[in-house]
Amino acid sequence: MAAAQYPGDRRSRLAVFSYRRRFLKPLVTAHGPWAWREGAIIRLTDGRGRATFGELAPVPWFGTETLEAAIAALEPFKNGVDRGAIAAIPDPLPACRFALGMAIASWPPWPLGEDPKIAPERVAGLLPAGAGAIARLPQLWDRGHRTFKWKIGVADPRAELALFEQILEPLPAGGRLRLDANGALDEEATRQWLTACDRAGDRVEFLEQPLPPGQEMAMQGLAAEFGTVIALDESVATVAQLRRCHDRGWGGPVIIKPAIAGDPLELLALIRDRALDVVLSSVFETAVGLGAIAAIADQLPSDRALGIGTAAWLEPLPADWWQRLREDL
Ligand SMILES: [Mg+2]
Repeated sequence: MAAAQYPGDRRSRLAVFSYRRRFLKPLVTAHGPWAWREGAIIRLTDGRGRATFGELAPVPWFGTETLEAAIAALEPFKNGVDRGAIAAIPDPLPACRFALGMAIASWPPWPLGEDPKIAPERVAGLLPAGAGAIARLPQLWDRGHRTFKWKIGVADPRAELALFEQILEPLPAGGRLRLDANGALDEEATRQWLTACDRAGDRVEFLEQPLPPGQEMAMQGLAAEFGTVIALDESVATVAQLRRCHDRGWGGPVIIKPAIAGDPLELLALIRDRALDVVLSSVFETAVGLGAIAAIADQLPSDRALGIGTAAWLEPLPADWWQRLREDL
């Protein structure tokens, strides 16, 4: 794909292609079941008919704009886009900023619709919540995954702690577990988990978001008491929030979902300038958005596994839908 033509190119045209994909199994989130993933691909075409793409993948229940609001905000740019357009998109529209920023940055460089090729050891394998994780882990190990993510805080804490031991016990050397509480624990339960994690040593990579957003100071205090690292996820969504969180003294890892964080070039610059410890993660994007995550990851020194093992959770988009993106340039 050609280098970015867009900075300053007022001749570029913007087109929006919406999609709606069904989760193969409805995803249970803290906000209820998620059955359909709705989003859009935006296409910028320059005066010579060359196209670049960006993905609009908002998650309103995670604090972003709605898809409708994002598409409406792009309307003024239908007939001309340059880098200044991103600054014209208001802060509360981070998914919109990401899509525009990505298209302007000319990501990704591989064929449209094809998933980026990322080695499994660079991707965290997703374990099902509960006891199903025990049987699933060896399968993911055989596929090459070495980091495994398991949700906690969804069942009785004592049963979960017992399961944790059962998952850890057969974990081969070199394997690491990421525990994600999605803010569902209180301080006492967090201490119990951190105690158990400390016993597991380096087989636990980190405990993710034990307490709800707003309790970052408490999490910072707990992190200082234990050897196990605490990572933030729900506490931080956008580039501005990441900057603020670091300003306030957070030094641990932060999960960042680029598709809902804002301008990807601004994100990349912030992470690099401050040498931030980030874990890049997906929000059920298509291959277009996943490509941007891979492109960002390639430009960072971090060896933390990417949280992008999500493509197989959704019905694929039909080939003729992808074909439309290549037409009428
Ligand atoms: Mg999380």
